[in-house]
Amino acid sequence: MHCSVSRTALSARLDGECLPEGVTDQAVREHLAGCVECSRWDRKARRLRSLFQDVAQPESEPTGALLERLRRAGRTERPSTDTGRPDA
Ligand SMILES: [Zn+2]
Repeated sequence: MHCSVSRTALSARLDGECLPEGVTDQAVREHLAGCVECSRWDRKARRLRSLFQDVAQPESEPTGALLERLRRAGRTERPSTDTGRPDA
């Protein structure tokens, strides 16, 4: 299975949609078992999805804890160099 096909299927599954034509759940699982890239992508997609669900239902979690999680999620992408302090 092609990685792009597998990711389309994973995304559909996360959204509760039908798998693409000709793709079985078994085939996706087998691909994930042998493809580090796709299993990493799947974990990331699940994490992003759970973050969005928290945003959609803010009462399910205290705002402070949610903001902390969002901050931590963003920290991996941007080093905290913008503290306003001159870097001399
Ligand atoms: Zn793959």
